[in-house]
Amino acid sequence: MNEADAQRVASLLESAGLHPVADAKNAAFLLINTCVVRQQAEDKIYKRLRYTAQLKHRNPDLVIALMGCLVGRIPHEHDALRERFPWIDLFLPPSDVQPLKAYLQEQGFPLPPDMAADDFLPAPLPRSQSGQRIVVHVPAVMGCSHACTYCVIPYRRGREHSRPSADILAEIRSLAGQGVREVVLLGQIVDRYGLDAPGEILLPELLRQTAAIPGILRVRFLTSHPAWITPELIEAVASTPQLCPYFEIPVQAGSDAILAAMRRGYNAADYENLIAGIRAAIPQAGLSTDIIVGFPGETDAMFAETATLMERVAPDMIRIAKYSPRPLTWSSRHLPDDVPEAEKERRRILLETALRERLTHKHAALVGQAVEILVETIEPSGRRHGRTPDYKPVFVDRSSAQPGELIRVRVTWAGPFSLIAEPA
Ligand code: SAH
Repeated sequence: MNEADAQRVASLLESAGLHPVADAKNAAFLLINTCVVRQQAEDKIYKRLRYTAQLKHRNPDLVIALMGCLVGRIPHEHDALRERFPWIDLFLPPSDVQPLKAYLQEQGFPLPPDMAADDFLPAPLPRSQSGQRIVVHVPAVMGCSHACTYCVIPYRRGREHSRPSADILAEIRSLAGQGVREVVLLGQIVDRYGLDAPGEILLPELLRQTAAIPGILRVRFLTSHPAWITPELIEAVASTPQLCPYFEIPVQAGSDAILAAMRRGYNAADYENLIAGIRAAIPQAGLSTDIIVGFPGETDAMFAETATLMERVAPDMIRIAKYSPRPLTWSSRHLPDDVPEAEKERRRILLETALRERLTHKHAALVGQAVEILVETIEPSGRRHGRTPDYKPVFVDRSSAQPGELIRVRVTWAGPFSLIAEPA
């Protein structure tokens, strides 16, 4: 979602006539987009902000904007930030570029009429100064109202709100007309698309209509919450060739006690049944999941349940996070952060090592096989970069294919997290 926000801000700035520079030292305008989902992400921001203070000291004309979840949506918190970071000129809530538009207009930058409108999200420019964009992330559900006990997002991005499907589809039609070939529909719980908006179509239909747009070769969606995946959604993916057979479904933990304390709304058996159902309908489906290790009260035995669940479910990717208490969340207010950092790190490494070994073994079977990739970029070395339908990164040697082309390639080398191939 931050990536999508950043692309949209870049569009707005480029439309106003600004252009990117390679080094922050040479910029007249700096915008920092921020994530606070974990303490580690937040700490990175402070480090970077201290650096921007030095830049401002050297160049007092430098304009600095801060955007995203550190800023949040509550105006009086902006005052506190202003006091804490007096060298920052502009504050933008997540997915909200209104303050930036107002600033650009005030400074006399000409904005195209459709950009000047009051809508909160300008579409990203498919062709930016860094080249043609083949893949674009398109927000479908803004905010989140689920309130998992560890998660700060509802407090930073506000309540769940589905964008009108007419707006989403019009934006994708326009992007497709300008060369975009893959769209990724986004939501914190994207499988709830439309459920907050009476009369709106739901995700399976939104995906079908997106897949039917001329020029769109691939459609993905993330992130799905296990409780909201319906048979209709699985059926849509199974029966629509453009819908990539790839599901991002965070499980977070394998222990039912921890899942209850997280208030996730399912247990480990529900998750396994769901994945089995998806694989029965779509045998080639890829799966990615998220795990939090070291949630308050997680014992060794509870963690072992997570580790064995991962061996049984065998996802193609696991994003592993060490629990960190976030302001306002239920877990930070009611549960002590009682798993020591060294133990969280030990659990993280155990999961990562097992994943690496399992994928090394699984991918070895791909060598010699043909896979389809959508070429996204050409590296300076001439290698083409793209992904398989189930989202594995592939680097292609000796290919003359252009970005935006779907090509068949033969795998010549396979590692746990990427593949190398040649034209088939
Ligand atoms: N709704 C999105 C959430 C994005 S946050 C989704 O379901 O993917 C991405 C991941 O960050 C979450 O899935 C979770 O694994 C992790 N995360 C969220 N809050 C966290 C916290 N307080 N500590 C550690 N990891 C956290």
